[in-house]
Amino acid sequence: MPRENATNKAHRLLAEGRLRVVRVGDESRPGLIVAECRGDSGEAYHLGYDPGKKQWRCGCVEMRGKCSHLIALQLVVVRDA
Ligand SMILES: [Zn+2]
Repeated sequence: MPRENATNKAHRLLAEGRLRVVRVGDESRPGLIVAECRGDSGEAYHLGYDPGKKQWRCGCVEMRGKCSHLIALQLVVVRDA
């Protein structure tokens, strides 16, 4: 079986219902996105988009870069990601 890449894993996370969008931007924080994603070992990662810093963040990564959790979130909330 081929190794699962981050995009494949993102689709699997969505199919398995692991991603939950907790909050989206309102008048006070337009563009804000807050979500939770459950990883393979049951741990919950907090992720989202910070419109102030214009940055996507996920609790599983310290440096910038896209993990499967962020890819899954962007598949849901970003047009033409
Ligand atoms: Zn992540």
